[in-house]
Amino acid sequence: MSGLILSNVTKQFGTFTAVDDVNLSVPDGTFVCLLGPSGCGKTTLMRMIAGLDLPSTGSITLGGEDITEVPTHKRNLGMVFQSLALFPHLTVGENIAYALRIRGVDKADQKKRVDELLAMIHLSGFSDRSVNKLSGGQRQRVAIARALAISPKLFLLDEPLSALDAKLREAMQVELRQLQQRLGITTIVVTHDQREAMTMADTVVVMNGGQIRQAAAPVDIYRRPADSFVADFIGSTNLIPFAAEASGRATLLGASVDGLQLGTAKTGTISVRPEDVQLTAPGGEAITGTVTFIRDLGGTVETFVEAGGQQIVAVSSPRDRPVVTVGQAVGIRLDPETSVVLAK
Ligand code: ATP
Repeated sequence: MSGLILSNVTKQFGTFTAVDDVNLSVPDGTFVCLLGPSGCGKTTLMRMIAGLDLPSTGSITLGGEDITEVPTHKRNLGMVFQSLALFPHLTVGENIAYALRIRGVDKADQKKRVDELLAMIHLSGFSDRSVNKLSGGQRQRVAIARALAISPKLFLLDEPLSALDAKLREAMQVELRQLQQRLGITTIVVTHDQREAMTMADTVVVMNGGQIRQAAAPVDIYRRPADSFVADFIGSTNLIPFAAEASGRATLLGASVDGLQLGTAKTGTISVRPEDVQLTAPGGEAITGTVTFIRDLGGTVETFVEAGGQQIVAVSSPRDRPVVTVGQAVGIRLDPETSVVLAK
């Protein structure tokens, strides 16, 4: 089996389980983001993939070889961590060539590889510059080039962009993804930023409490969240409890509603994204509510509505903005196509 495969990987610190029975398969050449709130176990999982920590139980294979207990330096990895840890007394070129020099690659080949990598990160001509004289984004790119110098099998990055300001971070996300696609290198990034994960990943792995809650393509994570944690963590959503009625209708938001695909569950929760909530003139819809607040963000308008004792948020573009005012009664239409019944 090629790619990286984690089988029943668990990590305990004393009695505390930081990573709980994780199974994950990362095909060669794909980009995976480990995403989740602080303390969910992302870094611990990454450290085991890197060989910096041993799993308490379970195994890790890379390209069919069991690497569970193989030391880090024998795993053929490129790593970039938040702190970057560039060598401050070395030039850009010396930083990038570092791993090559340690491996005894001859000078001419080192220079050739450094030039290639500098071109790749758009810093040709920077070889002799001190790393202390670089901008944050340039330092980031040098750290990436340094990690890629040995052409690793697996590229691991832990919160690589979190020290950068928002604009630069967004630009670097696109750059990193494009670089990964050009090189076809299997890449795993730890992040707590869902937008970052959605921008870069083929597969977003959402973790909570040491467990994988869902691993899927960004669009599927957003459109078909597996549970209420994922639905709420990725973007924003309305989580609406329902109780099925005998007739195939359901009670939700204080009304009896027809036409939602609620499956066989007697009770449960549906997730409806704010852009899938439509506000109408009262009278036409079973669900009714009262507008409590309107947030006009310029590009989008969020309308808050109280219905059946719950707050529902509807989002529209300013062009389609419902003509409503605070205190007004409205009908609420939930798109049955995009409403998702959650497992829990
Ligand atoms: P963050 O985004 O804050 O870095 P994370 O998802 O990367 O969080 P981890 O660093 O993997 O989380 O930590 C997961 C849990 O394991 C946390 O509750 C943490 O306190 C605990 N933990 C991590 N390392 C150790 C350790 N060496 N000894 C004891 N507990 C640890």
